[in-house]
Amino acid sequence: MIPVRFMKLIFALPVILLPVRSAIAQIAPARVMKIHHRAYVIDTHTDTPMELINGQFDPSRHHEAPASRVDFPRLREGDVDAIFFALYTGQRERTPENYEHAYQLANQMLDSTLVAVRRNLQTVRIATSTKAIINASKHNKTAICLGMENGFPLARDLSRVKEFYQKGVRYITLCHSSNNDICDSSTDPDGPEHSGLSSFGREVTAEMNRVGMIIDVSHISDKSFFDVLEVSKAPVIASHSSVRSLCNHPRNLSDNMIRALAEHGGVIQICILGSYIVPEDTTSEHHIKHEELRRKYNNWQYKDDDERRVAWRAWDSINKYYPPVLPTIVQAVDHIDHVVKLVGIDHVGIGSDFDGGGGLADCEDVADFPKITAELIKRGYTKKDIAKIWGGNFLRVFRSVEKFVN
Ligand SMILES: [Zn+2]
Repeated sequence: MIPVRFMKLIFALPVILLPVRSAIAQIAPARVMKIHHRAYVIDTHTDTPMELINGQFDPSRHHEAPASRVDFPRLREGDVDAIFFALYTGQRERTPENYEHAYQLANQMLDSTLVAVRRNLQTVRIATSTKAIINASKHNKTAICLGMENGFPLARDLSRVKEFYQKGVRYITLCHSSNNDICDSSTDPDGPEHSGLSSFGREVTAEMNRVGMIIDVSHISDKSFFDVLEVSKAPVIASHSSVRSLCNHPRNLSDNMIRALAEHGGVIQICILGSYIVPEDTTSEHHIKHEELRRKYNNWQYKDDDERRVAWRAWDSINKYYPPVLPTIVQAVDHIDHVVKLVGIDHVGIGSDFDGGGGLADCEDVADFPKITAELIKRGYTKKDIAKIWGGNFLRVFRSVEKFVN
């Protein structure tokens, strides 16, 4: 069945409703949903656990974007088979107190996710393997998978890789917007510290291979990226990164990086966050206010939770009073096209970054995902191609990481 909301959206898509193709127009929504339904639709990066720990957010209720972009009813509406909830911790100064804080925060997000899923087993379930994702889909449930964004909670303790694996985490994004003990970040204002992957980072990478944890190279510097490919025996993912040659941002991957990632068997999951899809208008009020805030909070390195909450409120009000001009699905799918032209259909997917800044003008939340499928169909991708993009490619990488375990 086509959700009412999606019917509205489809009929707003002029490309599908060209009068000369009226016959196609009439069958298009059902065709879109059929192809979408047949694919394993997997979103490899969202920051929804940040919502879950605030105590006010009930994921079993239907919310509205932009305030919230993921909840369980909308996951069903968007026919999403699996979604990664990232346990995100911002990088702070590396003191014993801050290591402990990051560890506690990651565990708090993990526990909140498990509780939320346990309360909603009629719609979602936790999945920690490719088989569990497929099984959840067979039972018409969305698989909630766990990732960790920033290896800061590992706190230089290698045994925590296995500890978090045993708790259900299946990928670790090695760092976030600043350098950490593992590697250099692509966006640290002070530049590189380790010249790529540190010696501890090399141990972490090998340990992740050993236990079956997927290595996520989003956010890490170019040198760190190439170091990881040298060290990792299993293929890796970029859980939420886009194409640098279309949008010159250090967070995005260059063509050389995408080629190397593909040669290594990995996958780039296109991130649908505005400033990774099209270069930001640096003269806009939104950009200026955002940069002021970034500087004020030292590139998001908060002193404590109170400061983090104040910064989030400030961020929300910037979005409200100076709303960004967001790119569209057409511009995001250009990134998919680029990767396909560069390295073929087997190395691209989608990681929304919803609830962490992700969202397009016409893809505001997980319920809008069928609209991306509609655009892919329009561009001539076959249902087999679309199945690869939405989840097949990621599942292949996940499977080879599972097989690598020793
Ligand atoms: Zn991120």
